[in-house]
Amino acid sequence: MSDKRTELEQLGEFGLIDQLTKKFETKNPETLFGIGDDAAVLEGKEDKVRLVSTDMLLEGIHFNLMYMPLKHLGYKAVSVNVSDLCAMNGKAEQITVSLAVSNRFPVEALEELYEGIRAACEHYKVDLIGGDTTSSVSGLILSISVIGTASKKDVVYRSGAKENDLLVVSGDLGGAYMGLQVLEREKEVFKANPNIQPDLDGHDYILQRQLKPEARVDVIDILKELEVVPTSMIDISDGLASEVLHLCKASGVGCHVYDEKLPIDAATSTTALDFNINPNTAAMNGGEDYELLFTIGQSDYEKVASNPNFTVIGHITHQNDGMYLIDRNGAAVELKAQGWNHFNKED
Ligand code: ADP
Ligand code: MG
Repeated sequence: MSDKRTELEQLGEFGLIDQLTKKFETKNPETLFGIGDDAAVLEGKEDKVRLVSTDMLLEGIHFNLMYMPLKHLGYKAVSVNVSDLCAMNGKAEQITVSLAVSNRFPVEALEELYEGIRAACEHYKVDLIGGDTTSSVSGLILSISVIGTASKKDVVYRSGAKENDLLVVSGDLGGAYMGLQVLEREKEVFKANPNIQPDLDGHDYILQRQLKPEARVDVIDILKELEVVPTSMIDISDGLASEVLHLCKASGVGCHVYDEKLPIDAATSTTALDFNINPNTAAMNGGEDYELLFTIGQSDYEKVASNPNFTVIGHITHQNDGMYLIDRNGAAVELKAQGWNHFNKED
């Protein structure tokens, strides 16, 4: 190590991963794809590949136990991992769970957490096969790894988008972020006066989007039924803008996303407007929707556009054309790379 000191924020999350991993080469022929997608892809049995992915959740960074019930946290932690395998057009089969806890937590609290993990294991039909348990100074840290499979010919990477492909998203966007805004607001009200009960009425949908997200395993089944294999895919964990950029960079292409096409639920829009947030901003930059963003060839347009689960939001262009969000008047705004704490910086 030299005396040089580079601040983490200079590199950002993805620059840091790049910097730390660039000297590594894969040595095993079974490693088909390592770093740089939603999951690693390993040689599997016959016509299958194995998928592996891992995600870590930290108290105070990814969740706040003031409003996140431990059972929901357990469920969500599994969902976000399963979602990464969906993004490869694959299915989750096993998980390992690693936990760091302080003595702040009684056994009963951790049992609650595991109730949520168990509910998710039932729902997604995955097996808990191991993990690790250790102590932490204060907060709770939860790290889950997921293992699964995809058929070799149908595995989908971030890197396959081609010029003129269509950009598609499942479900609707921005709900999880608006759910978080409501929870944060009520937390502040409660902190100011603990006698006031939180007012969460009428926000069921967006609260559920934030507190109990579901991985879109159903989308993988629907695509199979429609006989559509996306040319590229990623799950939407950090907001649409960030994921579109990942997909375009990995594929070496540009894109046009049309803001009037963004699928936004009425509950999300209403709450966004109450908070003086443009609903499109919630959809583009709010995270944690865990929907899927993918590209398809033009020939699959009819099959996908006629399905209520999907919305075509734009198309892929030549790399030199750049990556743009186009508004109703045809004005183009360049999609910006976002890194750590992008919300703090942007807002
Ligand atoms: P996702 O948002 O889908 O969970 P990430 O953005 O966390 O994916 O990670 C992008 C890629 O970088 C993945 O292939 C992941 O495995 C890899 N990665 C992330 N952090 C590290 C690390 N500290 N060391 C090695 N690889 C990493
Ligand atoms: Mg992902």
